[in-house]
Amino acid sequence: MTQRAPEATPAGAGPHGIAQRILESPSSATVRIADMAKTLRRQGVNVVDFSAGRASEHTPKYICQAASEAMMSGDTHQTMAQGTPEYRQACARKLRRENNMEADPETELIATFGCKNGLTLSLLAIMNPGDEVILEDPGFVSYAPTIQFFGGTPVPVPLEPDLNHRWREERLRAAVTDRTRAILFCSPHNPTGTVHTPEELDMIGRVARDHDLYVISDEIYERVTWGDHKHTCLATRPDMEGRVITLMGLTKTASMGGWRIGFAYAPPHVIEAMNTVQQHLTTCVGSFTQAGAAVAFGEEPKPELTGMWKDWAERCEYMTSELNALPGVSCAMPEGGFYGWADIRETGEGSEALAERLLKDHHVAVVPGSAFGGQGEGFLRITCVKSWEDLKEGVRRMKEALA
Ligand code: PMP
Repeated sequence: MTQRAPEATPAGAGPHGIAQRILESPSSATVRIADMAKTLRRQGVNVVDFSAGRASEHTPKYICQAASEAMMSGDTHQTMAQGTPEYRQACARKLRRENNMEADPETELIATFGCKNGLTLSLLAIMNPGDEVILEDPGFVSYAPTIQFFGGTPVPVPLEPDLNHRWREERLRAAVTDRTRAILFCSPHNPTGTVHTPEELDMIGRVARDHDLYVISDEIYERVTWGDHKHTCLATRPDMEGRVITLMGLTKTASMGGWRIGFAYAPPHVIEAMNTVQQHLTTCVGSFTQAGAAVAFGEEPKPELTGMWKDWAERCEYMTSELNALPGVSCAMPEGGFYGWADIRETGEGSEALAERLLKDHHVAVVPGSAFGGQGEGFLRITCVKSWEDLKEGVRRMKEALA
């Protein structure tokens, strides 16, 4: 038996069509490039991969141990849709210890399959079809497609390069219409590395209050900021009660991307709605992953984690200064997160053309800035937290490519 459709039509009626909302959505450029790099590797090519947004380290052993013990002792069944009470309590401890927030684990927290699932649950909980959601350009590649999948309209608002990739208040206000439901943003930012100060968060908060909007605050990189830059949670700012959905996760900062784990902190009426969605969509997040993540969030970070973050700062410093020294390229140290956002406009090459040339001719994978939105053209995103060996070899190859 073959699964191939007799006459596969990309769209339209009949059993062989594909839904319009999927056809309208581009595939994830970051995942596509990482896949291309993997294919080259399988063909025996030694590719240095700076495209995927993950560090070279594996999850620290003490976290794996906790999950493994939970699994071996029979913690292998569905949990409450909202997540185990132990995991939610661990998340509440983390928020108190690291973020100055008091969350009620009973009513204000829900376990999610990473931040992407946190976003899915948030949008299904608060957005009606036809609603608009304001987002950053450039911004994380999955935001706009996710909004579209659920019948919403993404409204990208350019970040201003002269404000070091932040929103200008007038421009943000001008994007609000009577269909706007929420502002979605990310700090520390993927791809630009910007970390919002309390005053900048207050600007976003002001706009949200003036127009009675929700704010979805993606804080997946919050545990890694560099130099004097400190992460502040939007939800801790004055007069933000009742409208902020905070998303956090372990994919990036604990090298736990394969675990698919995070949480959302939101007002009780939103958590209740998210919980209803989770009950039907997925039942619950994995039981033993929650047990491992409870240790990763609940306990003070151990040296395996803090030592890794310290080394990441050094790798980001090294990589961005090397990039900055390439002809036609300028790249600042990120304020937070682990990407170099390299300005390549002076090379005269487009971001896709250069990314393709780097991969095909020099076997270095990077993400073209255009993948993050129209305003990303002229930039490349380069993950700086690969092994020292990869960083050095990748720099050598990029020097060759841009000589
Ligand atoms: N938000 C941002 C800004 C990201 O960069 C990523 C991962 N690239 C995600 C969300 C997805 O996170 P998770 O793996 O927790 O779903």
